[in-house]
Amino acid sequence: MIDTHVHLDHPDFDPDRETVVARALAAGVCALLTLGTDGRTSQKAVELAERFQPVYAAVGIHPTRAHLVGDADRAVVAALAGHPKVVAVGECGLDYERGGCPREVQQETLRWHVRLSRACGKPLVVHNRGAHQDLLRILEEEGAVGVVMHMFTGPAEYAESCAGRGYRMSVGGPVTYLKAEELRRAVARIPDELLLVETDSPFAAPHPHRGRRNEPSYLPLVVEAVASARGQDAGAVAEQTAENARRCFDLAR
Ligand SMILES: [Zn+2]
Repeated sequence: MIDTHVHLDHPDFDPDRETVVARALAAGVCALLTLGTDGRTSQKAVELAERFQPVYAAVGIHPTRAHLVGDADRAVVAALAGHPKVVAVGECGLDYERGGCPREVQQETLRWHVRLSRACGKPLVVHNRGAHQDLLRILEEEGAVGVVMHMFTGPAEYAESCAGRGYRMSVGGPVTYLKAEELRRAVARIPDELLLVETDSPFAAPHPHRGRRNEPSYLPLVVEAVASARGQDAGAVAEQTAENARRCFDLAR
C-alpha cells in the first residue's frame, strides 16, 4: 500500500517519528508522501524524504495559509520542486469553509501552483473544501495535468466530473465512519485506475481511532472500507491503488 497524503513534519510526530515510519512499513505501507503547507514545512518535507527511504515529498502552500505567506515562500517552494525526491506540487487548492484567507488570494495561489506543476512536470495535489465548481473551473482554465483530489469527499456526481477529466481521487479515513453512506456511494463510482488511498495523518483518523492522532499504519483500515464500499477484495484494492500511486508520482519500485 502507498499512503499518498501525510503531514509527517507535524509536531504531533516529534516524539516518535521514526517509530511511526517503522510501524507503517510493518503494516504493509511501502511508501508515503509527505506534503508541505508553506515554505518552511515544504523544506521539512524534503528533509524527511532525504532521511527516510520510503518517504517522498510534495511542496506547496495550503489555501488556508496563502494570505500569511509571501514571495519568499513561493521562491522556496519553486526551488524545492526540482528536488529528485519531490514527486508532486502541493498541498494547494481552495478552502471556502475554514475562512481567514480571501477567496481571490486562494484562487491566485492555486493558479500559481498549477503553473509550477506544469513547468516541472510533476502532478498536483489539491485540497478542496466547499469549492467544488471553482476548483474544476480554475484547474481547467490553467490546463492542470496529473491532478490528485486529496481527501475526496464526494458526492457521486463529483466523482464522475473528476473522472471525466482524468483526475485521480484519493480516499481517506472518513470512508470508515459509520454515517458516511453518501461518501461510500461516491467511492464506488471512482474508476479503478483513478483510485488512490491516504491517511492525511495526523488528521482524519479512521474508525476506531477517530478523534485521536492518525498515522500511516492505519492505512489498511481505509483500504478495507474502500474495498467494501466498492464490493472488491481488500488485497486487490491495495495492489491497484499502490500501482496507481507509483504511476502517478513516478515512484521507484
Ligand atoms: Zn493535507
